[in-house]
Amino acid sequence: MNKQSCKLAVIGGGPAGLAAAQEAYQEGIEDILIIERDFELGGILQQCIHNGFGLHYFDEELTGPEYAQRFIDEIAEKGINVKLDTMVLDVTPKKKIYAVNSKEGMLEIEAEAIVLAMGCRERTRGAIGIPGTRPAGVITAGTAQRYINMEGYIPGEKVVILGSGDIGLIMARRMHLEGAEVEAVLELLPFTGGITRNVVQCLDDFDIPLRLNQTVTKIHGKDRLEAVTVAEVDDDLNPIPDTEYKIECDTLLLSVGLIPENELSQEAGVKLDNSTGGPVVNENRETNIEGIFACGNVLHVHDLVDYVTEESKIAGKAAAAYLQNQLEKREAPVELIAGDNVGYIVPQKITDKVKDRKRVDLYMRGTKPMNNVKISIIDDKEEILSKKERFVKPGEMISLPFPEKMITKLKTDQVTVQILEGGGTNEG
Ligand SMILES: Cc1cc2nc3c(=O)[nH]c(=O)nc-3n(C[C@H](O)[C@H](O)[C@H](O)COP(=O)(O)OP(=O)(O)OC[C@H]3O[C@@H](n4cnc5c(N)ncnc54)[C@H](O)[C@@H]3O)c2cc1C
Repeated sequence: MNKQSCKLAVIGGGPAGLAAAQEAYQEGIEDILIIERDFELGGILQQCIHNGFGLHYFDEELTGPEYAQRFIDEIAEKGINVKLDTMVLDVTPKKKIYAVNSKEGMLEIEAEAIVLAMGCRERTRGAIGIPGTRPAGVITAGTAQRYINMEGYIPGEKVVILGSGDIGLIMARRMHLEGAEVEAVLELLPFTGGITRNVVQCLDDFDIPLRLNQTVTKIHGKDRLEAVTVAEVDDDLNPIPDTEYKIECDTLLLSVGLIPENELSQEAGVKLDNSTGGPVVNENRETNIEGIFACGNVLHVHDLVDYVTEESKIAGKAAAAYLQNQLEKREAPVELIAGDNVGYIVPQKITDKVKDRKRVDLYMRGTKPMNNVKISIIDDKEEILSKKERFVKPGEMISLPFPEKMITKLKTDQVTVQILEGGGTNEG
């Protein structure tokens, strides 16, 4: 076996891995290795040729490849090592990485610190178990995006999209612009999973119908998809039989959720959070295994890449501090609990002392759409901080800055974050 070593190994060369590597370099770590299984860096951004990236981070509107290229150029400029076409197969708790590529064969890479940045994968038909035949033409929306935008194939002409998350919405517009007929976007829940901007720009602007509380109950067709049966669902999300109707189509795009890609994390002994599907981390994005950090969609599914970049810089900076022996633990670690109407919070705990830190940004998702809400932090049954928002939606991540001066004065070691409706309308 080919044995190698590095100070910092970054697994995954998408926006998360690139930003983490760049930040660690900036903080003085030069011996970095980015390992990427694809033939190029950039991750999912390479297939996202629409614009709208970078509005928060660069204050500019970029396409996915343009956004990625800014980081790829910096990685090249800094001379950070990259292994492309290299698949990581295993990571051990002692930070040994086993990988393979066709030039070097099997590799054993010993790293002093690791950043996990493997992104996420899409749920498939098998994951949601739609009954019916198994014809061609049933694929995930992300696969269709790669076919159209990178390989130059259009997967079909008459399309139904199941799931109204951002990828489903974006692919509805993309298929329409490529000349396909988009019959409908169907959504099981009473609300869309995507951000409002995408509902307006991808569906409303092109008169593509969105049908809420509906799902596909059967797939028809022998060699190629011929139709889908659709039904309305009741409050428990079960199909109502006498509401069934058929839509003729040759393609069903599934956009029914993303799963953080954590098989390697589990091999390494990293503890996962059931709500996010990603590792449990502290404010530095360090997992329970010292020196193993996680960021981007492998940690929790983000709606905007700009937030991925911000988070990955935190992980990269902390990995550098770990390698320089500068991470210092607090005497009293704090656990963050998702309270009423909060689906999850990242980070799940605050455990480190960080010099000159002003605040820790908490990222969370609400469990349902709500108007005029108050997001509060509760310590010892007392509200110590609150922020009002006009609305929250599960598809849009919320952030809440938690000032350091409050963290140091907490009475308990467990604080709860809750979202309550009717909190008021002013930002504050
Ligand atoms: C289909 C799809 C469409 C999306 N569209 C948008 C959009 O329009 N706008 C938006 O803001 N966000 C979009 N997103 C979200 C987007 O994924 C994130 O904004 C961002 O790309 C996440 O960055 P990441 O680096 O965490 O993950 P990714 O971009 O997924 O990068 C992860 C990288 O890790 C590599 N990797 C994984 N496992 C291994 C392994 N074992 N060995 C080596 N390498 C490995 C992968 O090849 C990949 O390059 C989309 C996501 C998906 C899945």
